[in-house]
Amino acid sequence: MLSFSRIIGQEKAKRFLKQVMAREKIPHAYLFTGIAGVGKTSMARALAMALNCDLSVNGDSCGNCPACRKMMSGNFPDFISVTRRPDKKNILIDQVKDLNHKLRFAPVAGRYRVCLIQQAEIMTVAAANSFLKTLEEPPPGNILILNAVDPRDLLPTIVSRCQRVSFSPLPFKDIADWLVKERNVDKETAEVLARVSDGSPGRALNMCEGNFLEKRQEWLLSLVNLPGLSKEKAIHMAFEYAEKDKKKDNEKSGSNQTGVPAMLAVWESWYRDLLVVRAGGSAHLLINADFSQKLKKIAEKFIIKRLIDSVLAIDQAQQDLRRYRNKKLVMEHTVLRLKNLADAHGQR
Ligand SMILES: [Zn+2]
Repeated sequence: MLSFSRIIGQEKAKRFLKQVMAREKIPHAYLFTGIAGVGKTSMARALAMALNCDLSVNGDSCGNCPACRKMMSGNFPDFISVTRRPDKKNILIDQVKDLNHKLRFAPVAGRYRVCLIQQAEIMTVAAANSFLKTLEEPPPGNILILNAVDPRDLLPTIVSRCQRVSFSPLPFKDIADWLVKERNVDKETAEVLARVSDGSPGRALNMCEGNFLEKRQEWLLSLVNLPGLSKEKAIHMAFEYAEKDKKKDNEKSGSNQTGVPAMLAVWESWYRDLLVVRAGGSAHLLINADFSQKLKKIAEKFIIKRLIDSVLAIDQAQQDLRRYRNKKLVMEHTVLRLKNLADAHGQR
């Protein structure tokens, strides 16, 4: 648990929540939207702590009172987080029913019980409908928070019942500084991680702990070499990536920064950089700034339309994967599409 002040960035969201907390009647439902790792879960925890703090200062928790201490020790009974079970793709109706049952009792320790639905977009339709009833009229003392990347993936009836709080990606400089100061990352690594983190400090941190930087080299190399591959080899490559990812899913990944979604994000950043170079943008705008020479060389060969189409193809793949379409098919289709767009006849 941490206070609002310990969360990096998101000043608008913090201001909004503090204002809301000062009201006589606090709204009971919130929808936090934004990319993964941007601080949605931390903010939900900070809100739970601030709501239950006995000595809050300017709307933030004190960190010292008995309620705060209990929350910081990690076993605060009035913070409930609902997330998919490791072996399931969705949040299921029995999880929502279980939650509804818990809500019927008054908060155990504090004034408010805060219930967080992680990745609300993966609730099954039945689960979402069951949750909708709770959302309409939750028992008093309960605050419901839904986390989602994109509100369009949720039932409109759910969205309309929540106070929307959007979380923005952070400037790369802020993330780099934070990694150096708070996490003792060396400056050079922090810069690369911050640039490729897409504005997500949580992602940057996860990448920092795994072997992400090596994987990134490998992914970029396979992308650059794609035009030289035969169609069969390209399909094989897509298949391999999807298979490896499946294994990792089974091993339980949580915050996997070396899987297919991470690779797609790196590929997308590559095309985005090529667009920047083609548009004559300056080097400090590049995400993969450590590859600026290679980018320059490759960008010369591409027509802009094909770069945009490549970004769109990756975008589509990311959406499909979020909706749990068949990973292998998505990867094959995407790799072939990118290969076609990069092949010699598509270049100038
Ligand atoms: Zn306190």
